[in-house]
Amino acid sequence: TGQYVYGDRVRLSKLVERETSIFSKRTSKSKEAFEQSRKVLLGGVPMSWMSKWSGGYPIFFKSARDSKISDLDGNIYVDFCLGDTGAMAGHSPGATVSAVIERVRDKGGITTMLPSLDAVNAASALSARFPLPYWQFTLSATDANRFALRFARQITGRSKVLVFSYCYHGTVDESFIVLDNGVPRSRTGNVGPAVDPTDTTVVVEFNDIEAVRRALSTYEIAAVLTEPALTNIGIVLPVAGFHEELRRLCSETSTLLIIDETHTFSAGYGGATELFGLDPDMITIGKSIGGGVPVGAYGVSDAVAERLLADQEADLVDTGGVGGTLAGNALSVAAVAATLEHVFTKEAFAKMIDLCATFEQGVTDAFFEFGAPFCAVRLGARIEYRFTPSPPLNGGESASYGDDLLDQYFHLYMANRGVLMTPFHNMALMAPTTTLEDVETHTNLFKEAVGELF
Ligand code: PMP
Repeated sequence: TGQYVYGDRVRLSKLVERETSIFSKRTSKSKEAFEQSRKVLLGGVPMSWMSKWSGGYPIFFKSARDSKISDLDGNIYVDFCLGDTGAMAGHSPGATVSAVIERVRDKGGITTMLPSLDAVNAASALSARFPLPYWQFTLSATDANRFALRFARQITGRSKVLVFSYCYHGTVDESFIVLDNGVPRSRTGNVGPAVDPTDTTVVVEFNDIEAVRRALSTYEIAAVLTEPALTNIGIVLPVAGFHEELRRLCSETSTLLIIDETHTFSAGYGGATELFGLDPDMITIGKSIGGGVPVGAYGVSDAVAERLLADQEADLVDTGGVGGTLAGNALSVAAVAATLEHVFTKEAFAKMIDLCATFEQGVTDAFFEFGAPFCAVRLGARIEYRFTPSPPLNGGESASYGDDLLDQYFHLYMANRGVLMTPFHNMALMAPTTTLEDVETHTNLFKEAVGELF
């Protein structure tokens, strides 16, 4: 990091100071709650990532419905963070809530170690939009990725996986690796790794198809695990022909292609798999598909299913390292079936994508108006601005333009005026419940925020 495109650091520091002070006045009850929570929660939060919010402590929320959140101080926010995609369906979507109530209260049964018919409906709904016939459920996208990698190594008999630098696929050991001046190394801050990820993983830059070719030609790689577009280091879109060649090289070397749709589902009804015409051997997904209820899923092709089920050595039924007691529970699968059928409809995606295009126009207009050398990249209903004049082509390049202080400025500026952005990124996501008014609120504030910088 540190190739700051924005040079007036003194002005920026003063603005951040001003916004931090506004924040602490506006959210005094959250601050109090944080003091309490520090006594019982490690680091003051129930999950460490919640420390990531700007301002020194997170806003404590009281209620969340559709695209709005209210906090302990009575502030109301338009929510473009949407639980970093977990709430892409909007908060507490009606159809999901009804299905959950029906399951949990009316019929009864949250988890039983027995399948329910909702699991069949949930898998059918996934097969209707992703081109894979067989599905399994987990409790997180992380687990879906972990199991997909285990399966890939099992059926190919190869030990390594290939990922792209600055990818993120959840807390998956094999993926905490980056290219540093062309040299693979464990990602900075990797917590207590069991083994050095350079032992398990080959890492290349996204969009570098020659590097993929060299890596796969060793025939050591069981699977390539990638998002269709990187979404965790800004949004990095694939260049023309990248995915076609990736698929071709995987087939040529009998390497499995695992596509992680957890974030890129924002691209549309059939995710980026449909948008880019991808043909993966496995798909992993999580976060949004249960409308906020914890769940992940992975799909496999006919060929992968056949090889797995025929494998005499793999223990797929008990302690083989794949599964989870509450995975596939009745609550999660009821939520998936309802959310996919009733919330993430084709009409909903059309509206979300339309609004996101309007959002994008507002952001790029603001950059143009003030001559700001920044850019925005959109993937369907997801958009991210980046502090560099043109969209980066790979993770390493994108990472080098990170500017934490600018992130902090925009996050606080927006939060102080009633708009929540995603803390890890400058990402905004549209839900089926996002309105044009919500987008216009952002556009107007964003113009002011950029104007104060230049
Ligand atoms: N895949 C991708 C692409 C992700 O962005 C994430 C989380 N940000 C995950 C998987 C893991 O999701 P979870 O943390 O819910 O397991």
